[in-house]
Amino acid sequence: MQKIKLNNGVEMPLLGLGVFQIADLDQCEQTVLTAIKSGYRLIDTASFYLNESAVGNAIKKSGVVREELFVTTKLWVQDSGYQKTKTAFERSLKELQLEYLDLYLIHQALGDYYGSWRAMEDLYKDGKIRAIGISNFFSDRVVDLIAHNEIVPAVNQIEINPFYQRADEHELLKKNNILTQSWASFAEGKNDFFNNEVISSIGRKHNRSVAQITLRWLIQRGIAVIPKSVRKERMLENYSVWDFELSKDDMDAIATLDTGNSVFFDHRDPETAEWLTKLTF
Ligand code: NAP
Repeated sequence: MQKIKLNNGVEMPLLGLGVFQIADLDQCEQTVLTAIKSGYRLIDTASFYLNESAVGNAIKKSGVVREELFVTTKLWVQDSGYQKTKTAFERSLKELQLEYLDLYLIHQALGDYYGSWRAMEDLYKDGKIRAIGISNFFSDRVVDLIAHNEIVPAVNQIEINPFYQRADEHELLKKNNILTQSWASFAEGKNDFFNNEVISSIGRKHNRSVAQITLRWLIQRGIAVIPKSVRKERMLENYSVWDFELSKDDMDAIATLDTGNSVFFDHRDPETAEWLTKLTF
């Protein structure tokens, strides 16, 4: 498993397992346990996913030493603000049954996320989190957060897939030494993703699946990935992307699939902001 050095020197696996939309806790625990036994070392959850406790159980049962694992969770909008963030952090740590977090992300650029960031800076300085970052921040919000705070985020986790490639935003993050991490690398299967002809034809050339070509395309762009699957054979498939390389022509062909738009929704749409703000748990 290749690792990448974050801007504070902490090493993070380039590929991990995402556990969004695995609401059944037994299934989530089994999925994470299977992933860890299959070699996965990074697990990406969030307080909003309501499955941190299952992730924690699986980590305990796996028998893998804590230092070998990289655990990410996220702070939801309802917990934004300095004090609420500290409380939410402790709650997540307890659910995960951990002593420290590897990466803590602000899930959305909504609410008092400046207060949240300062709480996260303090938790980081106290040694309770190894790296802090953001998610779903557009370039203007990234620049503003950097300009008005002490610590530059280590990671920005954003939607990136062949239909929404975000080349300029990725460049800006790179320029600021922030690692881009892709969510919904497979567009959650939307737009008939797994049968896409352009990616399938590249796959036939390399004898690889659409999923593998896509993960490889992201990794070659310097983007970290966290594909979600509850099935062991797919976890293994998604994990096997280190022993082949896409050519410039392959990369250029995938570049033509960009629509410039999210497959899901635009975070900057006022209706989306209102909807996300009302989502509480
Ligand atoms: P995704 O990884 O694009 O797609 C997951 C879907 O693809 C599932 O339906 C899965 O089905 C299927 N799949 C996985 N591997 C496959 C393969 N090799 N062949 C065919 N189908 C395959 O979507 P995502 O779960 O939304 O994104 C990944 C992770 O990113 C999440 O789990 C979460 O951790 C994170 N995320 C973050 C945010 C954010 O706002 N920060 C938002 C969304 C997601 P099976 O499970 O049945 O295999």
